[in-house]
Amino acid sequence: MSTLGTNYTDVIPAPDRALASVEDVLRRSGIELKTSGEVDAMREAGRVVARCLDAVRAAAAPGVSLKELDEVAHGVMRDAGAVPAFLDYHPHFAPSPFPGVICASVNDAVVHAIPGPYRLAEGDLLSIDCGAFLDGWCGDAAISLVVGAEPDPADLELVATTERALQAGIAAAVPGARLGDLGAAISAVAREAGYGMLADHGGHGIGRAMHEAPHVPNEGRAGRGMKLRPGLVIAIEPMLHAGGDDDYVHDDDGWTLRTVDGSRAAHAEHTVAVTEDGPRILTLP
Ligand code: MG
Ligand code: MG
Repeated sequence: MSTLGTNYTDVIPAPDRALASVEDVLRRSGIELKTSGEVDAMREAGRVVARCLDAVRAAAAPGVSLKELDEVAHGVMRDAGAVPAFLDYHPHFAPSPFPGVICASVNDAVVHAIPGPYRLAEGDLLSIDCGAFLDGWCGDAAISLVVGAEPDPADLELVATTERALQAGIAAAVPGARLGDLGAAISAVAREAGYGMLADHGGHGIGRAMHEAPHVPNEGRAGRGMKLRPGLVIAIEPMLHAGGDDDYVHDDDGWTLRTVDGSRAAHAEHTVAVTEDGPRILTLP
C-alpha cells in the first residue's frame, strides 16, 4: 500500500535541526533503524508476500474474480502462519476498514481497489498489492500484469517501465544517498517515457507497522532530503499513469484511486533494506 505524502523533515524546526544529532533527528522523526537480525525477520515476512503475489499471478486469468484472487492470497498467508496487513486496515482518509487481503486495481484503477466480484477479462491490466505480518514484522509488495494471451504492447510497456522505475529506486537505496536521489531516480524513468505518476502518493518506512516514517516520495531532487543509513527499511512503490496526467479521482468507496483521464495505470513495489552491502530486497520468494 502507498501513503499520502508527508515531509518528515518539516516536523523538526530548522534551528533544532542544526543542533540535533543524527540519532535525535531520526528518533524525533519517528524513524526506526532495524538491526540485521530484525531485517532477517522481515525477509521472512517478505517471502510470504512474494509467494502470495506469485500465486495470484498464476491464478489471474479471464473469468476469475478479484474476490477469488483475494482468497488465493489469504490461503497462502494462512499456510505460512502469516496475518493479512490490509484486511481491516482503517487509515484516517478512508470511510471504512479495508475489506480485502489484497488490493486489486484493474485498468484505470491505480491503487487501493477492493477485490470484489468483478471477473477479469482478456487484456485487463491488473495491479495486485499485498501486505502480510509474520512474527510481528510486515512485508509489502505489488506487481502489475496483463491478463490473457493477447496483451496490448502499450500495456506491457507501461508495466515494464513501472518495474524499471522500481529497480532504479532500489538501486538508489544505498547508505549515504538521500531520499531525493531515490525519488529522482524513479521519476526520471517515468517522465522520460512520458507517463504520469500518482500525485501525492509514494512509499514508506516499514517494520512492525506497515506504514512508518519516512514518507518515500516517487519524485525528488538529487542530493536533497534525509540521508539513507544502514538499517532503514522502506517500501518503494512507483505508480505510473499511461496518459501522462498526474491527477486522480476517488471512487465512491473511498478507497479506489483512478486516473483522471481514464488511462491505464501500473504499480510495482518491493520492501527494501538499506545495508552496508547495498539494497537488500526483502519481498522475493
Ligand atoms: Mg503495497
Ligand atoms: Mg506500500
